[in-house]
Amino acid sequence: MGTPHKMRLIMMGPPGAGKGTQATFIAEHFGIPAVSTGDIFRANVSRGTALGVKAKEYMDAGEYVPDEVTNEMVRNRIQEPDADKGFLLDGYPRTLAQVEELDTMIKSTGHALDAVVVLTVDQDEVVERLLQRALIDGRTDDTGDVIRRRQELYGEETAPLIEVYRDRGLLIEVDGMGQVEDVTQRIFDALDVVPQS
Ligand code: AMP
Repeated sequence: MGTPHKMRLIMMGPPGAGKGTQATFIAEHFGIPAVSTGDIFRANVSRGTALGVKAKEYMDAGEYVPDEVTNEMVRNRIQEPDADKGFLLDGYPRTLAQVEELDTMIKSTGHALDAVVVLTVDQDEVVERLLQRALIDGRTDDTGDVIRRRQELYGEETAPLIEVYRDRGLLIEVDGMGQVEDVTQRIFDALDVVPQS
């Protein structure tokens, strides 16, 4: 692909689809920060901040942190100078209320979203990946019951966002199965055809 350009991107997909891994590669390529709400919450939990204390009970249960809390956190993050020219959101928005709030945030900067990448995966393989990650990372929200709850919430609250972005002509669906580097290449190929702002 040509010269890297600044982009405003969203990475979507069910828990375990490999969003975080791909988000890091894609963001690096475009020279924009990868903003992972899950990572920011986890950093706050481990530092014991007020935000972390608030978020932890929801995270441990596999529930979504309330929209007001999450929205404010993202608003603050994308106002930082490094996000001035673009960003890749990983794990946000997850609800329709968050979509609306994000629209307001981006509009107020005079910019627009460039694309929403959705990783499509096989559900059984996803659960297997999550169980493996639990062994490696020791994440407290990667237990069987919590994994099932997170998948369920994704289906109920987040999957409907796919149609919202499809209607806006922003959706890019990418096969998330197979080798990590193959998936990365598929995303680059798909983004190559997105008009640059
Ligand atoms: P993740 O690392 O993206 O799987 O996020 C881990 C957990 O953080 C989720 O299960 C939620 O409890 C919380 N979380 C992350 N992003 C959001 C969001 N956009 N809205 C609400 N809760 C979130």
